[in-house]
Amino acid sequence: METLYITHPECRLHDMGSWHPESPQRLDAIGDQLLSSGMMPHLAECEADVAGMNDILRVHAPEYLAFLQNQAPRHGYRSLDDDTAMNPCTLPAAWAAAGAGITAVDAIMRGKAETAFCAVRPPGHHARPSQAMGFCFFNNIAIAAAYALEKHGLRRVAIIDFDVHHGNGTEEMFEHDDRVLMCSFFQHPLFPSTLRDTGASNMVNVPVPANTPPEALRAIVAEQWMPRLKAFAPEMLFISAGFDAHLEDDMGQLGLTEADYAWITRQLVQLAAESAQGRVVSMLEGGYNLSALGRSVVAHIRALSKM
Ligand SMILES: [Zn+2]
Repeated sequence: METLYITHPECRLHDMGSWHPESPQRLDAIGDQLLSSGMMPHLAECEADVAGMNDILRVHAPEYLAFLQNQAPRHGYRSLDDDTAMNPCTLPAAWAAAGAGITAVDAIMRGKAETAFCAVRPPGHHARPSQAMGFCFFNNIAIAAAYALEKHGLRRVAIIDFDVHHGNGTEEMFEHDDRVLMCSFFQHPLFPSTLRDTGASNMVNVPVPANTPPEALRAIVAEQWMPRLKAFAPEMLFISAGFDAHLEDDMGQLGLTEADYAWITRQLVQLAAESAQGRVVSMLEGGYNLSALGRSVVAHIRALSKM
């Protein structure tokens, strides 16, 4: 079955200034590499439905939504912190990015696809229930996972985050929620420098120092993630797919390459085949070296679609 490729034109219009690494060109780089690699004709392209208010409110506070609406500028930029800013198109892009995950869940649950990749921005995994941070406004992967649990009645879902940064917002939203198992590795210390020792047994979030070799990261996947994921037997997998742990990405100091992203993705696709009827929703998070990002997404999608 084809992999769905979901995006939305609004996602390209959000911009935080020409200096900012979280740029619209990231989506162009992904699209270009999918075309030049010959992958695009094998994907089922689809435009995201915009998220509904209730979908956002499953993980965010109503006051936070009102705050964002108040902050949204009519012209120019409005900074929310040192590296997170809004332009007039930010909120429409954020609603579309969140909606992409919901579109993916619906399509997969209706049997139209087994797997989906959402090429969306702004990214989401740093967004807290009531705070934008780290280029993120709405926590897209959390919104999609909560939707699958509540709207489709799934009992267990897994969230896997291989971005170089800690998915602090996602962890905060689901710690102690037994319906969710979250597995990640992340460079530490590094933004957002959150190490939450909450004792939550549903969090397998493994901090690693700078320059941890790819073999050690694969070992974390094989020895720490996979046994827990297999025992949990998720009914759907959600991937916070950040590609800033790439060797060529200077946002972090880890050394993953396309082959590693393909290998990690194959482990997850195999697990999904065992317990989740193959269902995987992957959503773009970080990844700022445009060439490495595009190539890595191609490798990731190739593995998602078992090509
Ligand atoms: Zn990141």
